Amino acid sequence: MIRVRFTQQEIARRVRELGEEISKDYQGKTLTVVALLNGALPFAADLIRNISVPVYLDTFAASSYVDDSSCGKLNVRSSLKNSVEGKDVLLVDDILDTGFSLAATVEHFRKMNPSGIRTCVFLDKILRTPKPVKADYTGFPVENAYVVGYGLDSRELYRNLPFIGIMEKEEKENQIIDRSTKMIHVVAEMEIRKDCMKKILALVKELVPLVRAEKGCIQYEPNFAVDDEGHEKYFFFVETWESEEALKNHLASPHMAKWREDVKELRLTSRVKVLSPAGI
Ligand code: 5GP
Ligand code: MG
Repeated sequence: MIRVRFTQQEIARRVRELGEEISKDYQGKTLTVVALLNGALPFAADLIRNISVPVYLDTFAASSYVDDSSCGKLNVRSSLKNSVEGKDVLLVDDILDTGFSLAATVEHFRKMNPSGIRTCVFLDKILRTPKPVKADYTGFPVENAYVVGYGLDSRELYRNLPFIGIMEKEEKENQIIDRSTKMIHVVAEMEIRKDCMKKILALVKELVPLVRAEKGCIQYEPNFAVDDEGHEKYFFFVETWESEEALKNHLASPHMAKWREDVKELRLTSRVKVLSPAGI
């Protein structure tokens, strides 16, 4: 189920305000708007039509991954059509979550020697952890939930919704699941090294959509748990697989191989339990 969070009207009003603010700030200049694909497309399309200074429009597609440096590394899928050297660049993105992607993107753009670089995100997720980058222009702050619509996807769907909604858990329950067969439950637990939880969360964010898209994945729920002092110390995956074969394929997948490699340095211990239903 998707619960409406920002209506089409609220979005339109806010985009108009952002456009006016940006136009004022760039008075007398020409702006190069770079839409970060795919999520920022609808927002960037609306935004440029509310900007009154001359605009160059370009697009850039990349995803970030985390390594041992403080911000993420960038995986560039498609680059710019025109050079931004000496240009006033405005990077436009759909949502600022951990901020790793945008921070890495800004770094990447700095190397191209623009005369200025600012960022504009439609949503900024309210998180307890500090972010490596703050957007110069923000549409709305939003609670820490999974949002879809207005460019934002869930497994590449819902980007075309004209409003922004919060994805609620029931989605999975609408799927037809044959409970009579050999479903398998798995609990995977890791004890995380001090100060590594942020890196774990960034990796988990990349992993979860890939796992959920696997054939035979019924649920794949990431959770953390605190120790006695309230520090985030443990990370759990609660998983349900349609069959033993689905679980086997999952464990052999390339993204799980990458995950195992990536978390090696970040965790102290790890345990995976495949549960046997008690049949009650
Ligand atoms: P960050 O690097 O800031 O954690 O992640 C930013 C990217 O993750 C966004 O550009 C977006 O593609 C994706 N993302 C983060 N949170 C959400 C969300 O709640 N919904 C959707 N659909 N995508 C999100
Ligand atoms: Mg994005």
